[in-house]
Amino acid sequence: MRIAMIGTGYVGLVSGVCFSDFGHDVVCVDKDASKIGRLEKGGVPIYEPGLDALLARNVAAGRLSFTQDLKAAITGAEAVFIAVGTPTRRGDGHADLTYVMAAAEEIAKAATDYLVIVTKSTVPVGTNRKVAEVVRRANPDLDFDVASNPEFLREGAAIDDFMRPDRVVVGIETERASKVMEDVYRPLFLRDFPIVTTDLESAEMIKYAANAFLATKITFINEIAALCEKTGADVREVSKGMGLDGRIGNKFLHAGPGYGGSCFPKDTSALARIGQDYASPMTITEAVIEVNERVKRRMIEKLRDLCGGSFNGKKIAVLGVTFKPNTDDMRDAPSLTIVPALVGGGAKVHAVDPQGRREGETLLPNVAWDADAYTASEGADLVVILTEWNEFRALDLGRIAASMANARMADFRNIYSAKDAEEAGFAAYVSVGRRPFP
Ligand code: NAD
Repeated sequence: MRIAMIGTGYVGLVSGVCFSDFGHDVVCVDKDASKIGRLEKGGVPIYEPGLDALLARNVAAGRLSFTQDLKAAITGAEAVFIAVGTPTRRGDGHADLTYVMAAAEEIAKAATDYLVIVTKSTVPVGTNRKVAEVVRRANPDLDFDVASNPEFLREGAAIDDFMRPDRVVVGIETERASKVMEDVYRPLFLRDFPIVTTDLESAEMIKYAANAFLATKITFINEIAALCEKTGADVREVSKGMGLDGRIGNKFLHAGPGYGGSCFPKDTSALARIGQDYASPMTITEAVIEVNERVKRRMIEKLRDLCGGSFNGKKIAVLGVTFKPNTDDMRDAPSLTIVPALVGGGAKVHAVDPQGRREGETLLPNVAWDADAYTASEGADLVVILTEWNEFRALDLGRIAASMANARMADFRNIYSAKDAEEAGFAAYVSVGRRPFP
């Protein structure tokens, strides 16, 4: 079958490439000429492990192509996916649906034959019906259905998540659309991956509820971590002891510097606003948003304490700026709150990140960039681990401590221990939810 994918960002590009790997003919569309230009030359505009090889394989097989021409892309397509951004609307916390509605209108104006317009972007309850209205208004004669198909992939593991999902959620209203969506996902259906077929509103709500729940779980353990520090408990032991309970599960129980990324901050904010709109307050989600901000601020205070009360004149090495490893995505990363606080306080920050430098250079002004953790730490007063990239997991801590002016470490991903740091010659070590050293 032929599929058109509107938007070639982290979700659209991965989905388009994976659908073509299922055997479908896929045309990916983007308004961004530089992205399409790169893709047409065989390049990949984002960093996602394994994506370049999968893309090349499917382009070579003639199943995958890229264009800026939406009309050409949707000609003959039975399903057209909207995978454009839904960022937080400036000023009010709602999801900004401008890009989704613009794409819907463009599809309507270009389409001539029956097709299913599938929203993959994360959108508030009721959006798919609004998409249908927009399409109907723009092209009253068009025969079409809408479908909601929220995406659950994680950046950094996106291909595996797409190919081997915990579940696929599809919201539909007609048999005809159901048949098209079955064809789209047939390879997963045949391999017994759960497909949850439901109504439009429930599909839309599942995505926000799932993300808000995950953000809640992380924030809960982050708050427990703060209490562990006060009471002498070790949050890693607590997470392990909690997570072995099958009702709780061990995922998303790693204490850290607060959640970030392209989804949790904006989706919790949007859900809170949806609750307000319907006079059905999302009190837990609102508390999660507030506590997460507190967690990030708490990290800054830990760093200030380690620096003796002031960042002024200190050299600080920051290891990792992306919101998590294996991605170049910096949207709402904790580094965007923490690093400016250091720079603003008069510190000289030297950052290192295997994939984040390109974005980081624009988003984090007045920061020097180094090639590796050893160079960044030379003569430093503090080294801070913000992202648990593999290359930071097995550092020669002795070499780092010996090269620093003041050997102090803040390990906000809990990848080392106070004992590791002490043995390596560090004078001070703090982490999250565990006893500091000294
Ligand atoms: P992104 O910003 O990386 O990509 C969006 C792309 O859409 C951009 O390349 C933009 O140029 C393009 N675009 C916008 N309007 C267009 C139009 N009218 N025609 C053609 N192209 C257009 O966004 P993303 O991270 O891929 O997220 C997309 C959606 O998926 C969001 O709703 C997000 O919440 C959701 N989502 C994201 C993730 C994730 O991990 N990034 C996971 C699950 C769901």
